[in-house]
Amino acid sequence: MPLHLPRRSVLAATAALPLLPAMAARPARADAHAAAAAMPRARSFSIGSFTVTTLLDGSSPREDPQSIFGMNVSPEEFAEVSEANFIPTDMAQFYFTPVLVEAGEDKILFDTGLGQGGIQTALGEVGLTPEDITHVVITHMHGDHIGGLVQDGAEIFTNAAYVTGQVEYDHWTGAAADTDGGQRVVNEVAPLAERMSFVADGDSPRSGITAVEAFGHTPGHMAYMIEDGGEQILLAADLANHYVWSLAYPDWEVLFDADKEAAAVTRRRILGMLASDRIPMMGYHMPFPAAGFVDTREDGFRWVPVSYQLNG
Ligand SMILES: [Zn+2]
Ligand SMILES: [Zn+2]
Repeated sequence: MPLHLPRRSVLAATAALPLLPAMAARPARADAHAAAAAMPRARSFSIGSFTVTTLLDGSSPREDPQSIFGMNVSPEEFAEVSEANFIPTDMAQFYFTPVLVEAGEDKILFDTGLGQGGIQTALGEVGLTPEDITHVVITHMHGDHIGGLVQDGAEIFTNAAYVTGQVEYDHWTGAAADTDGGQRVVNEVAPLAERMSFVADGDSPRSGITAVEAFGHTPGHMAYMIEDGGEQILLAADLANHYVWSLAYPDWEVLFDADKEAAAVTRRRILGMLASDRIPMMGYHMPFPAAGFVDTREDGFRWVPVSYQLNG
């Protein structure tokens, strides 16, 4: 353990973790829950004067990963790559990781999780409640990112202003309004539109936070560059959804990418920029604490998880 833990890490290590009601109701998952509860749900980093915290909303195993990743490669190639990277071929561990940026008086939450109470628990680890959040930024409108906005019909982040990409909002409330995903946006996001501002590539919802167009995963998927005091980290959202199967192999098709070709082009463009400029990133589905560096390797990229680089 480092000697100079940030105050919040000490709190996180000693905080009692309340059971999630949704999970406690399912005894079959008790063992999995016990393992999850032992895991810290918040990890803070310093970017200049900003405190950036990854918040683990939830994590679960998923079978048959090649039905999601590497859909356009043979089972043999999928197995070979997985083995070379010391991961199994028959399951994947999924992580869901919203991010809190504390900048001056602002407490800005990027994405909200699955809506099963995990984000409240993770915020609790850094001594915050949803009422403390001043801004909620939605990177894109898949259910695992907008799920925590509303619970049982009630808004969760009652004091927040909302920010999202114009193209993304228009897609889900327009062309895709009749899909299941669109219906959820119409029911749970659109009612918040009065307090929402809409951004495009290069817009800054606040100084030090800049929207970066990362279309492909969804039609209006946005990443955000977070920058203060000469330091930067890219909040990459769902740019690459697995640290091997999509980050190391950017052209492997991912079930969740709406436009698979555009998603691959975007991955190569942005990951290439991160690698050449040595800028760290956070990925919503990267293994917790979901932050790391990107290097080039062969025809793709290598994920280097953070250790102590961003401790401040
Ligand atoms: Zn997504
Ligand atoms: Zn996602």
